[in-house]
Amino acid sequence: MRYAILSDIHGNFEALQAVLADAGPRTDAMLCLGDIVGYGPDPVRCLDAVAARAVAMVGGNHEHAVAGRLSLDWFNPYARAAAEWTSEHLDEEQREYLGELPLMLEVADATIVHASPARPEEWHYLVEAEDGFEAFAAFASRLCFVGHSHRPAVWSLGSSGPEYARGPIDVRLEAGRRYIVNVGSVGQPRDRDPRASYVVWDVDARRIEGRRVPYDSSATRRKIVQAGLPRFLADRLRVGA
Ligand code: ZN
Repeated sequence: MRYAILSDIHGNFEALQAVLADAGPRTDAMLCLGDIVGYGPDPVRCLDAVAARAVAMVGGNHEHAVAGRLSLDWFNPYARAAAEWTSEHLDEEQREYLGELPLMLEVADATIVHASPARPEEWHYLVEAEDGFEAFAAFASRLCFVGHSHRPAVWSLGSSGPEYARGPIDVRLEAGRRYIVNVGSVGQPRDRDPRASYVVWDVDARRIEGRRVPYDSSATRRKIVQAGLPRFLADRLRVGA
């Protein structure tokens, strides 16, 4: 079994299409770690495409925001403007669907969650080495896949000690080690690489491979501006930051 694991699509349909095309021949099933909507101009198309394909998905803070389950006071002004816009462009049924997504699920020997598995409803980021090492106690499975920071990284614990690496992901799973993998963001990378990010988890080959997929963001950027969303949200797609 080979899973494509996507997170933080953020209404960017062009990036999602590129990832789906890349993942098609390489994977058998899709998992989604949340933040399908927010920031980008195509929340409905992204939701429909993911809901039709994902075998399991969890909700992110942007899902909770548009469903009215998270105060927008938690958001910076760009995120808040985008959440308000997104909420207006979804219907009641779509908002309810997003608000009812579970926050944490187990698939095979992996936990999937948007932010930290420790109190997932508090949306803590896993960015630095310590953030990840402290989170291992919060899940029981061998693997944990997270998103939320929009920056790919891998933490692992085993008898040979803790390891942490940010950047491109290429993991050969070792017997006896546990791993947390941040899969990066499909629709709004923030690691200075504007290509869409996702990972392929090959269960039988015991391998997790990060993929970066180039796409033409000019249409997405144009749609963001035309929608009246903050221009900053268009500009950042160009640099991936
Ligand atoms: Zn996000």
